[in-house]
Amino acid sequence: MEKQVLIYDTTLRDGTQAEGVSVSVEDKLRIAEKLADFGVHYIEGGWPGSNPKDMTFFKEVKKLNLKNTKITAFGSTRRSSLKVEEDPQIQDLIKAETPVITIFGKSWDLHVTQALKTTLEKNLEMIYDSISYLKKYVDEVIFDAEHFFDGFKENPDYAIEVLKVAQQGGADFLILCDTNGGSLPTDIEKAFKAVKEAGITAKLGIHAHNDSDTAVWNSIVAVLHGAIQVHGTINGIGERCGNANLCSIIPNLSLKLGYETVPRENIKRLKEISNFVSDILNMPVPKNMPYVGDSAFAHKGGVHASAVLRNPRSYEHILPEEVGNRRKVLVSDLAGKSNIIYKAKEIGIEIDEKDERLTKLVQEIKELENQGYHFEAAEASLELLIRKHLGTLPKYFDLDAYRVLIARRYTDK
Ligand SMILES: [Zn+2]
Repeated sequence: MEKQVLIYDTTLRDGTQAEGVSVSVEDKLRIAEKLADFGVHYIEGGWPGSNPKDMTFFKEVKKLNLKNTKITAFGSTRRSSLKVEEDPQIQDLIKAETPVITIFGKSWDLHVTQALKTTLEKNLEMIYDSISYLKKYVDEVIFDAEHFFDGFKENPDYAIEVLKVAQQGGADFLILCDTNGGSLPTDIEKAFKAVKEAGITAKLGIHAHNDSDTAVWNSIVAVLHGAIQVHGTINGIGERCGNANLCSIIPNLSLKLGYETVPRENIKRLKEISNFVSDILNMPVPKNMPYVGDSAFAHKGGVHASAVLRNPRSYEHILPEEVGNRRKVLVSDLAGKSNIIYKAKEIGIEIDEKDERLTKLVQEIKELENQGYHFEAAEASLELLIRKHLGTLPKYFDLDAYRVLIARRYTDK
Protein backbone atom coordinates (compact mmCIF):
# COMPACT_ATOMS: atom_id res chain seq x y z
CA MET A 1 0.00 0.00 0.00
CA GLU A 2 1.11 3.48 -0.76
CA LYS A 3 2.08 5.62 2.17
CA GLN A 4 -0.38 8.44 2.77
CA VAL A 5 0.74 12.07 3.07
CA LEU A 6 -1.94 14.49 4.23
CA ILE A 7 -2.18 17.66 2.17
CA TYR A 8 -2.89 20.75 4.25
CA ASP A 9 -3.78 23.70 2.06
CA THR A 10 -3.26 27.19 3.46
CA THR A 11 -3.99 29.16 0.28
CA LEU A 12 -6.90 30.88 2.04
CA ARG A 13 -4.80 31.94 5.05
CA ASP A 14 -1.06 32.11 4.37
CA GLY A 15 -1.66 32.43 0.62
CA THR A 16 -3.81 35.50 0.96
CA GLN A 17 -0.99 37.19 2.86
CA ALA A 18 0.82 37.52 -0.46
CA GLU A 19 1.33 41.05 -1.74
CA GLY A 20 -1.46 42.07 -4.10
CA VAL A 21 -3.99 39.44 -3.03
CA SER A 22 -7.39 40.44 -1.79
CA VAL A 23 -10.28 38.01 -1.54
CA SER A 24 -13.94 38.23 -0.72
CA VAL A 25 -15.79 35.66 1.39
CA GLU A 26 -17.44 34.47 -1.82
CA ASP A 27 -14.03 33.91 -3.45
CA LYS A 28 -12.83 31.97 -0.43
CA LEU A 29 -15.88 29.72 -0.46
CA ARG A 30 -15.46 28.95 -4.14
CA ILE A 31 -11.80 28.07 -3.65
CA ALA A 32 -12.63 25.91 -0.61
CA GLU A 33 -15.20 23.98 -2.61
CA LYS A 34 -12.77 23.44 -5.45
CA LEU A 35 -9.96 22.29 -3.15
CA ALA A 36 -12.26 19.86 -1.34
CA ASP A 37 -13.38 18.46 -4.67
CA PHE A 38 -9.72 18.06 -5.62
CA GLY A 39 -9.21 16.04 -2.46
CA VAL A 40 -6.89 17.97 -0.13
CA HIS A 41 -7.25 16.75 3.44
CA TYR A 42 -7.28 20.07 5.28
CA ILE A 43 -8.18 23.61 4.29
CA GLU A 44 -6.98 26.36 6.59
CA GLY A 45 -9.76 28.88 6.20
CA GLY A 46 -8.40 31.93 7.98
CA TRP A 47 -7.86 33.55 11.34
CA PRO A 48 -11.28 34.11 12.91
CA GLY A 49 -10.01 36.63 15.43
CA SER A 50 -8.20 38.79 12.92
CA ASN A 51 -11.10 40.11 10.81
CA PRO A 52 -14.89 39.83 10.47
CA LYS A 53 -14.56 38.47 6.92
CA ASP A 54 -12.91 35.29 8.17
CA MET A 55 -15.61 34.76 10.78
CA THR A 56 -18.28 35.03 8.07
CA PHE A 57 -16.34 32.55 6.00
CA PHE A 58 -16.41 29.98 8.82
CA LYS A 59 -20.15 30.44 9.19
CA GLU A 60 -20.82 30.04 5.46
CA VAL A 61 -18.38 27.22 4.79
CA LYS A 62 -20.39 24.94 7.09
CA LYS A 63 -23.19 25.00 4.52
CA LEU A 64 -20.99 23.50 1.80
CA ASN A 65 -20.51 19.82 1.20
CA LEU A 66 -16.77 19.44 1.51
CA LYS A 67 -16.76 15.64 1.52
CA ASN A 68 -13.73 14.34 3.44
CA THR A 69 -11.91 17.65 3.65
CA LYS A 70 -11.60 19.23 7.09
CA ILE A 71 -11.73 22.97 7.59
CA THR A 72 -9.34 24.39 10.15
CA ALA A 73 -9.33 27.72 11.94
CA PHE A 74 -5.94 29.31 12.57
CA GLY A 75 -4.75 31.30 15.54
CA SER A 76 -2.06 31.57 18.16
CA THR A 77 -1.43 30.34 21.68
CA ARG A 78 -2.99 32.37 24.50
CA ARG A 79 -1.49 35.67 25.48
CA SER A 80 1.00 35.54 28.34
CA SER A 81 -1.05 37.91 30.50
CA LEU A 82 -4.39 36.11 30.14
CA LYS A 83 -5.85 32.85 31.29
CA VAL A 84 -6.66 30.63 28.34
CA GLU A 85 -10.42 30.69 28.95
CA GLU A 86 -10.37 34.49 29.12
CA ASP A 87 -8.37 35.06 25.96
CA PRO A 88 -10.73 36.48 23.28
CA GLN A 89 -8.57 35.21 20.43
CA ILE A 90 -8.83 31.63 21.78
CA GLN A 91 -12.58 32.05 22.20
CA ASP A 92 -12.90 33.23 18.60
CA LEU A 93 -11.21 30.02 17.47
CA ILE A 94 -13.84 27.98 19.26
CA LYS A 95 -16.63 30.16 17.86
CA ALA A 96 -15.50 29.32 14.33
CA GLU A 97 -16.88 25.82 15.06
CA THR A 98 -14.44 23.94 12.86
CA PRO A 99 -13.53 20.28 13.48
CA VAL A 100 -9.85 21.21 13.58
CA ILE A 101 -7.96 24.13 15.10
CA THR A 102 -4.38 25.01 14.24
CA ILE A 103 -2.43 27.22 16.60
CA PHE A 104 1.09 28.45 16.32
CA GLY A 105 3.48 28.92 19.19
CA LYS A 106 7.01 30.15 19.47
CA SER A 107 9.81 27.61 19.36
CA TRP A 108 12.72 30.02 18.89
CA ASP A 109 13.95 31.43 22.19
CA LEU A 110 14.82 34.74 20.53
CA HIS A 111 11.16 35.26 19.60
CA VAL A 112 9.97 34.34 23.08
CA THR A 113 12.13 36.88 24.84
CA GLN A 114 12.18 39.62 22.18
CA ALA A 115 8.81 39.41 20.39
CA LEU A 116 6.59 38.01 23.12
CA LYS A 117 8.68 39.59 25.87
CA THR A 118 8.07 36.73 28.22
CA THR A 119 10.13 33.96 29.79
CA LEU A 120 10.96 30.64 28.19
CA GLU A 121 9.10 28.83 30.95
CA LYS A 122 5.95 30.95 30.54
CA ASN A 123 5.92 30.32 26.79
CA LEU A 124 5.82 26.58 27.47
CA GLU A 125 2.85 27.09 29.81
CA MET A 126 1.05 29.12 27.13
CA ILE A 127 1.54 26.31 24.63
CA TYR A 128 0.42 23.59 27.02
CA ASP A 129 -2.64 25.52 28.26
CA SER A 130 -3.83 26.50 24.80
CA ILE A 131 -3.56 23.03 23.27
CA SER A 132 -5.08 21.14 26.20
CA TYR A 133 -7.92 23.66 26.47
CA LEU A 134 -8.78 23.63 22.74
CA LYS A 135 -8.64 19.83 22.66
CA LYS A 136 -11.84 19.83 24.71
CA TYR A 137 -13.71 21.62 21.91
CA VAL A 138 -12.48 20.09 18.65
CA ASP A 139 -11.54 16.72 17.17
CA GLU A 140 -8.01 17.74 16.33
CA VAL A 141 -5.52 20.37 17.41
CA ILE A 142 -2.58 20.97 15.11
CA PHE A 143 0.40 22.77 16.60
CA ASP A 144 2.58 24.91 14.31
CA ALA A 145 6.01 25.24 15.90
CA GLU A 146 6.83 28.64 14.47
CA HIS A 147 10.47 29.30 13.50
CA PHE A 148 11.30 25.74 14.50
CA PHE A 149 14.39 25.37 12.30
CA ASP A 150 15.88 28.73 13.32
CA GLY A 151 15.15 27.90 16.94
CA PHE A 152 16.68 24.46 16.56
CA LYS A 153 19.91 25.96 15.23
CA GLU A 154 20.31 28.40 18.09
CA ASN A 155 18.83 26.55 21.02
CA PRO A 156 18.01 22.96 20.06
CA ASP A 157 17.12 21.89 23.59
CA TYR A 158 14.45 24.56 23.91
CA ALA A 159 13.00 23.95 20.43
CA ILE A 160 12.65 20.25 21.24
CA GLU A 161 11.21 21.07 24.67
CA VAL A 162 8.46 23.09 22.93
CA LEU A 163 7.51 20.03 20.90
CA LYS A 164 7.49 17.83 24.00
CA VAL A 165 5.16 20.21 25.80
CA ALA A 166 2.85 20.44 22.79
CA GLN A 167 2.79 16.66 22.65
CA GLN A 168 1.93 16.46 26.36
CA GLY A 169 -0.81 19.03 25.82
CA GLY A 170 -2.42 16.59 23.40
CA ALA A 171 -1.61 18.05 19.99
CA ASP A 172 -2.56 15.65 17.20
CA PHE A 173 0.14 16.95 14.88
CA LEU A 174 3.34 18.84 15.47
CA ILE A 175 4.21 20.93 12.44
CA LEU A 176 7.80 22.08 12.13
CA CYS A 177 7.71 25.49 10.46
CA ASP A 178 10.40 27.17 8.42
CA THR A 179 8.71 30.51 8.97
CA ASN A 180 11.53 32.65 7.55
CA GLY A 181 12.10 30.27 4.67
CA GLY A 182 15.84 30.37 5.15
CA SER A 183 16.47 26.67 5.73
CA LEU A 184 17.99 24.29 3.24
CA PRO A 185 17.14 20.60 2.80
CA THR A 186 20.17 19.58 4.87
CA ASP A 187 18.84 21.66 7.82
CA ILE A 188 15.45 19.99 7.53
CA GLU A 189 16.96 16.52 7.53
CA LYS A 190 19.12 17.24 10.57
CA ALA A 191 16.23 18.67 12.58
CA PHE A 192 13.80 15.85 11.76
CA LYS A 193 16.38 13.25 12.75
CA ALA A 194 17.01 15.03 16.06
CA VAL A 195 13.29 15.30 16.80
CA LYS A 196 12.88 11.57 16.40
CA GLU A 197 15.97 10.83 18.47
CA ALA A 198 14.57 13.05 21.23
CA GLY A 199 11.67 10.62 21.60
CA ILE A 200 8.90 12.71 20.06
CA THR A 201 6.21 10.25 19.05
CA ALA A 202 3.44 12.61 17.89
CA LYS A 203 2.67 12.75 14.18
CA LEU A 204 4.84 15.31 12.39
CA GLY A 205 4.33 17.76 9.56
CA ILE A 206 6.17 20.47 7.65
CA HIS A 207 5.28 24.09 6.85
CA ALA A 208 7.90 25.64 4.58
CA HIS A 209 8.30 29.09 3.06
CA ASN A 210 10.19 29.65 -0.14
CA ASP A 211 12.70 32.39 0.62
CA SER A 212 15.63 30.14 -0.32
CA ASP A 213 13.75 28.68 -3.31
CA THR A 214 13.83 25.28 -1.59
CA ALA A 215 10.36 25.07 0.00
CA VAL A 216 9.21 22.23 -2.24
CA TRP A 217 12.31 20.16 -1.67
CA ASN A 218 12.36 21.01 2.05
CA SER A 219 8.83 19.64 2.29
CA ILE A 220 9.76 16.46 0.46
CA VAL A 221 12.86 15.91 2.58
CA ALA A 222 10.62 16.25 5.63
CA VAL A 223 8.31 13.58 4.22
CA LEU A 224 11.26 11.31 3.55
CA HIS A 225 12.17 11.74 7.22
CA GLY A 226 8.77 11.00 8.65
CA ALA A 227 6.46 14.02 8.14
CA ILE A 228 2.99 12.84 7.19
CA GLN A 229 1.34 16.25 6.81
CA VAL A 230 2.52 18.88 4.33
CA HIS A 231 1.41 22.51 4.39
CA GLY A 232 1.46 24.57 1.23
CA THR A 233 -0.50 26.73 -1.17
CA ILE A 234 -1.73 26.43 -4.73
CA ASN A 235 0.85 27.99 -7.08
CA GLY A 236 3.06 28.61 -4.05
CA ILE A 237 1.52 31.99 -3.32
CA GLY A 238 2.17 33.52 0.09
CA GLU A 239 3.95 36.21 2.00
CA ARG A 240 7.31 37.41 0.60
CA CYS A 241 8.52 34.65 -1.75
CA GLY A 242 5.56 32.42 -1.03
CA ASN A 243 4.79 29.10 0.61
CA ALA A 244 5.73 25.60 -0.52
CA ASN A 245 3.98 25.03 -3.86
CA LEU A 246 1.45 22.20 -3.64
CA CYS A 247 1.30 22.10 -7.44
CA SER A 248 4.84 20.70 -7.38
CA ILE A 249 4.74 18.80 -4.08
CA ILE A 250 1.68 16.74 -5.01
CA PRO A 251 2.99 15.39 -8.35
CA ASN A 252 6.50 14.91 -6.97
CA LEU A 253 5.19 12.81 -4.09
CA SER A 254 2.51 10.96 -6.03
CA LEU A 255 3.97 10.49 -9.50
CA LYS A 256 7.63 10.12 -8.60
CA LEU A 257 7.98 8.91 -5.02
CA GLY A 258 5.04 6.56 -4.71
CA TYR A 259 3.14 8.38 -1.94
CA GLU A 260 -0.60 8.82 -1.85
CA THR A 261 -1.63 12.51 -1.64
CA VAL A 262 -4.88 13.60 -3.26
CA PRO A 263 -6.76 10.75 -5.01
CA ARG A 264 -4.62 9.57 -7.92
CA GLU A 265 -7.26 10.21 -10.57
CA ASN A 266 -7.49 13.86 -9.48
CA ILE A 267 -3.86 14.64 -10.21
CA LYS A 268 -4.78 15.17 -13.85
CA ARG A 269 -6.85 18.12 -12.65
CA LEU A 270 -3.81 19.88 -11.22
CA LYS A 271 -3.57 22.50 -13.96
CA GLU A 272 -7.28 23.18 -13.72
CA ILE A 273 -6.96 23.81 -9.96
CA SER A 274 -3.92 26.01 -10.50
CA ASN A 275 -5.75 28.09 -13.14
CA PHE A 276 -8.88 28.34 -11.02
CA VAL A 277 -7.05 29.76 -8.01
CA SER A 278 -4.96 32.02 -10.20
CA ASP A 279 -8.09 33.46 -11.87
CA ILE A 280 -9.95 34.09 -8.64
CA LEU A 281 -6.99 35.62 -6.83
CA ASN A 282 -5.87 37.48 -9.93
CA MET A 283 -2.34 36.10 -9.55
CA PRO A 284 -1.08 34.89 -12.95
CA VAL A 285 0.81 31.61 -12.98
CA PRO A 286 4.34 32.18 -14.30
CA LYS A 287 4.61 30.46 -17.68
CA ASN A 288 7.65 28.49 -16.63
CA MET A 289 6.11 27.15 -13.42
CA PRO A 290 6.88 23.40 -13.22
CA TYR A 291 4.01 21.02 -14.02
CA VAL A 292 1.25 23.65 -14.36
CA GLY A 293 2.84 26.57 -16.26
CA ASP A 294 1.77 27.13 -19.87
CA SER A 295 5.34 26.57 -21.04
CA ALA A 296 6.04 23.54 -18.84
CA PHE A 297 5.71 21.29 -21.89
CA ALA A 298 6.44 23.76 -24.71
CA HIS A 299 9.04 22.87 -27.32
CA LYS A 300 10.53 25.49 -29.52
CA GLY A 301 13.81 24.24 -30.94
CA GLY A 302 13.45 22.16 -34.09
CA VAL A 303 15.60 19.34 -32.69
CA HIS A 304 13.57 19.16 -29.47
CA ALA A 305 10.27 19.14 -31.32
CA SER A 306 11.26 16.37 -33.71
CA ALA A 307 12.60 14.22 -30.85
CA VAL A 308 9.51 14.78 -28.68
CA LEU A 309 7.22 13.86 -31.54
CA ARG A 310 9.08 10.61 -31.99
CA ASN A 311 9.21 9.86 -28.27
CA PRO A 312 7.93 12.36 -25.65
CA ARG A 313 10.32 10.99 -23.03
CA SER A 314 13.24 12.48 -24.92
CA TYR A 315 12.49 16.00 -23.64
CA GLU A 316 9.61 15.61 -21.14
CA HIS A 317 9.94 14.30 -17.57
CA ILE A 318 6.30 13.19 -17.44
CA LEU A 319 3.46 13.17 -19.93
CA PRO A 320 1.71 16.57 -19.75
CA GLU A 321 -1.72 14.87 -19.55
CA GLU A 322 -0.80 13.35 -16.18
CA VAL A 323 -1.19 16.80 -14.58
CA GLY A 324 -3.77 18.10 -17.03
CA ASN A 325 -1.31 20.21 -18.97
CA ARG A 326 -0.67 19.99 -22.72
CA ARG A 327 2.26 19.71 -25.03
CA LYS A 328 2.92 22.80 -27.09
CA VAL A 329 5.07 22.89 -30.14
CA LEU A 330 6.01 26.44 -30.93
CA VAL A 331 6.72 27.82 -34.33
CA SER A 332 9.33 30.52 -34.71
CA ASP A 333 12.51 31.10 -36.67
CA LEU A 334 14.01 28.30 -34.53
CA ALA A 335 11.44 25.85 -35.83
CA GLY A 336 12.17 22.96 -38.09
CA LYS A 337 9.92 20.81 -40.24
CA SER A 338 8.74 18.78 -37.22
CA ASN A 339 7.23 21.82 -35.52
CA ILE A 340 5.22 22.59 -38.65
CA ILE A 341 4.13 18.96 -39.12
CA TYR A 342 2.89 18.96 -35.51
CA LYS A 343 1.04 22.27 -35.96
CA ALA A 344 -0.54 21.09 -39.22
CA LYS A 345 -1.70 17.92 -37.48
CA GLU A 346 -3.32 20.01 -34.73
CA ILE A 347 -5.51 21.69 -37.35
CA GLY A 348 -6.25 18.42 -39.06
CA ILE A 349 -3.78 18.44 -41.95
CA GLU A 350 -1.41 15.53 -42.52
CA ILE A 351 1.75 16.42 -44.35
CA ASP A 352 4.69 14.26 -45.26
CA GLU A 353 8.16 15.16 -44.08
CA LYS A 354 9.47 14.96 -47.63
CA ASP A 355 6.78 17.19 -49.14
CA GLU A 356 8.45 20.08 -50.93
CA ARG A 357 5.73 22.49 -49.90
CA LEU A 358 6.91 21.98 -46.34
CA THR A 359 10.41 23.21 -47.13
CA LYS A 360 8.97 26.34 -48.74
CA LEU A 361 6.68 26.94 -45.79
CA VAL A 362 9.53 26.72 -43.29
CA GLN A 363 11.54 29.09 -45.44
CA GLU A 364 8.75 31.62 -45.60
CA ILE A 365 8.20 31.48 -41.82
CA LYS A 366 11.89 32.13 -41.22
CA GLU A 367 11.90 35.02 -43.67
CA LEU A 368 8.80 36.58 -42.14
CA GLU A 369 10.20 36.15 -38.62
CA ASN A 370 13.31 37.90 -39.84
CA GLN A 371 11.14 40.81 -40.99
CA GLY A 372 9.60 41.04 -37.52
CA TYR A 373 6.61 38.67 -37.64
CA HIS A 374 6.13 36.63 -34.46
CA PHE A 375 4.14 33.47 -35.13
CA GLU A 376 4.56 32.00 -31.64
CA ALA A 377 2.01 34.50 -30.42
CA ALA A 378 -0.20 34.36 -33.52
CA GLU A 379 -1.51 30.85 -33.97
CA ALA A 380 -4.33 31.84 -36.32
CA SER A 381 -1.97 33.69 -38.69
CA LEU A 382 0.22 30.62 -38.69
CA GLU A 383 -2.74 28.45 -39.57
CA LEU A 384 -3.57 30.70 -42.53
CA LEU A 385 0.01 30.51 -43.71
CA ILE A 386 0.05 26.72 -43.45
CA ARG A 387 -3.24 26.45 -45.29
CA LYS A 388 -2.04 28.80 -48.00
CA HIS A 389 1.05 26.70 -48.68
CA LEU A 390 -0.78 23.42 -48.58
CA GLY A 391 -3.56 24.65 -50.79
CA THR A 392 -6.39 24.31 -48.29
CA LEU A 393 -7.10 28.01 -47.99
CA PRO A 394 -10.24 28.85 -49.91
CA LYS A 395 -9.98 31.83 -52.19
CA TYR A 396 -12.48 34.21 -50.73
CA PHE A 397 -11.83 37.14 -53.04
CA ASP A 398 -10.87 37.59 -56.67
CA LEU A 399 -9.42 40.81 -57.95
CA ASP A 400 -11.51 41.83 -60.86
CA ALA A 401 -10.73 45.47 -61.38
CA TYR A 402 -10.00 48.55 -59.35
CA ARG A 403 -10.38 52.26 -59.60
CA VAL A 404 -8.27 54.89 -57.86
CA LEU A 405 -9.67 58.30 -57.03
CA ILE A 406 -7.40 61.11 -56.09
CA ALA A 407 -8.84 64.35 -54.80
CA ARG A 408 -7.12 67.57 -53.81
CA ARG A 409 -8.49 70.88 -52.56
CA TYR A 410 -6.94 73.79 -54.25
CA THR A 411 -6.40 75.46 -50.86
CA ASP A 412 -4.20 72.53 -49.79
CA LYS A 413 -0.59 73.38 -49.72
ZN1 LIG B 1 3.46 30.36 7.05
